[in-house]
Amino acid sequence: MVSKDLLEILRCPYCVSGETRKPGPDPGRLELVHDCWLVCQEPDCGRKYPIRDDIPVMLIEEGDKWINVAVEDLPVPPPSE
Ligand SMILES: [Zn+2]
Repeated sequence: MVSKDLLEILRCPYCVSGETRKPGPDPGRLELVHDCWLVCQEPDCGRKYPIRDDIPVMLIEEGDKWINVAVEDLPVPPPSE
């Protein structure tokens, strides 16, 4: 189980970095779904980050893979690489 404290500070790396940083004081907030996915809450992002072996995989390339997958269609548990 990933700690609530950790989840509270994690943000979507795409939405907090460089030129793709979203506006607002706290962009890239994530919602935990299925207890094993972190879904970016920015409306035009759609990236989803798997939690594998209790470790959130916060890589933009990883989030990219799941942009077009609906939240309800995310595999549980996330596939291992
Ligand atoms: Zn994002």
